[in-house]
Amino acid sequence: MTSDGFDLRRLTRRQFVMATAGLSLAHWPRQVSSQPRFQTNPFSLGVASGAPSSTSLVLWTRLAPSPLEGGGMPPEDVRVRYRVATDARMSHVVIDETVAAMPELAHSLHPIAVGLKPATDYWYQFSAGNEESPIGHSRTLPAPSSRPARVDFAYTSCQHYEQGYYLPYRFMAEDDLDLIVHLGDYIYENKTSPLAEGRIVRQHDSDEVFSLAGYRNRYALYKSDPHLQSAHAACAWLTSWDDHEVNNNWASAYPQDPHRQTPTEFLVRKLAAIQAYYEHMPLRHFPVAAGGGLDLRLYGRYPFGSLAQFHLLDTRQYRSDQVCTTGDYINLDCTERHAPERTMLGTRQREWLVSGLEPFAGGWNVIAQQVWFGRYTFTGGSAPEHNRDAWDGYPQERQRVVDAVASRAPGSSVVLAGDWHNFCVRDIHENPDVPEGGVVMTELAGTSLSSRTSRTAQIQASLADNPQVRFFDGDHRGYVRCRIERDVFRADLQFLSSPFTPVDATMRTGASFVVERGRPGALRA
Ligand code: FE
Ligand code: CA
Repeated sequence: MTSDGFDLRRLTRRQFVMATAGLSLAHWPRQVSSQPRFQTNPFSLGVASGAPSSTSLVLWTRLAPSPLEGGGMPPEDVRVRYRVATDARMSHVVIDETVAAMPELAHSLHPIAVGLKPATDYWYQFSAGNEESPIGHSRTLPAPSSRPARVDFAYTSCQHYEQGYYLPYRFMAEDDLDLIVHLGDYIYENKTSPLAEGRIVRQHDSDEVFSLAGYRNRYALYKSDPHLQSAHAACAWLTSWDDHEVNNNWASAYPQDPHRQTPTEFLVRKLAAIQAYYEHMPLRHFPVAAGGGLDLRLYGRYPFGSLAQFHLLDTRQYRSDQVCTTGDYINLDCTERHAPERTMLGTRQREWLVSGLEPFAGGWNVIAQQVWFGRYTFTGGSAPEHNRDAWDGYPQERQRVVDAVASRAPGSSVVLAGDWHNFCVRDIHENPDVPEGGVVMTELAGTSLSSRTSRTAQIQASLADNPQVRFFDGDHRGYVRCRIERDVFRADLQFLSSPFTPVDATMRTGASFVVERGRPGALRA
């Protein structure tokens, strides 16, 4: 295993602030190349916006004229201008600033456009030397005190580059959405085995990645996709990671395979993965030193006026290691699974989530997180089995979240999930052992954008023993498009005709569900 060293630590805090907040270059402490020359357009990875507030937007780009070979930039700071306008032709400019793109951050930029008006459309563009980026569009959140009529958003996850084309993003880009929520597995660190795992449509350009250079090239490969770029340029994104941004099924300090990586090797790998994730996402928070490593604050709350608030979670960085597993993560019960101290969120994030579930003017709570939340019992073996990597591996903490929803915001909460590459609509009961009892909220697990699924038959074989499941489909890739209005949450499950065709695949709504405010439980629409 190799590491390229951890460059972030060479930067001073002042440099972080200047680079990420877009402050004046007048006091920049280093030499900045102001008229760089590029062989090709350096904005090869597109532009993005994210982590919106009612008055600000995080903008993103990365200079990479040779994206698949480390970026192709000289090892020096480069001056980059960005402008924000209120029209698509960039003629009514409200922000015109210059920032430094630094080699330590792979010449990525995360300027925060501040002083914006709530619920307003903005367009933005970067330029460096004589080159210009594509123009991106974004929209600020409504003012916290406002009462917007609706919010339109889509969510997705799991986009293995080798296993399917990114056509769903073309349709998302055409949907005129307020937000796109990405629930993780934005990249895959590993390689598909065509013999064991079936058809691939295009290939990773390297084997499993471990180093900063490896992760950077992997993000660059994924971000070279034009449909992914168009969806990033269409609206603001909320992003949190799952496992494959680091290592399959990792948990805080623990890799999937402890026998393949020492704790130190995994720590080095995780630092590289955190840095590369930061460098390629429109994130508001910079990684900070914590506990001998780094913490990247991904969880956050995004209020859409008084209509809805999105609670974006991180279910990887703070969780207890999986228990009672021998190889496969679907396994028989063991007593450790029920230990009350086992955590998926970590104490701080859980308390933050629970305190934020207070009913606010009757609005909706959208808990956007990675792995299957509700219980699913596999009954094909000699005894019941559960997936230890999902919330079924952390049942005591799950119950604390369910109890908080039941006491604070029943009938106005929906939990989103990804990770398992299929659609699953499920009632979350106040007591999972008494399915006849009260329903507290609905779980809407979305399918993968492109990653194949291997669990469909196994899940289907146990459906009759899981009456909490209202709908299941394991045959389609796609995404979920949602509209939230005052009294109804609507979800359209979007089915892609095929992930294997690069251009002429079609999208249709395979099933729709609504949740009516005050009446927990999803209804087929
Ligand atoms: Fe996945
Ligand atoms: Ca996953």
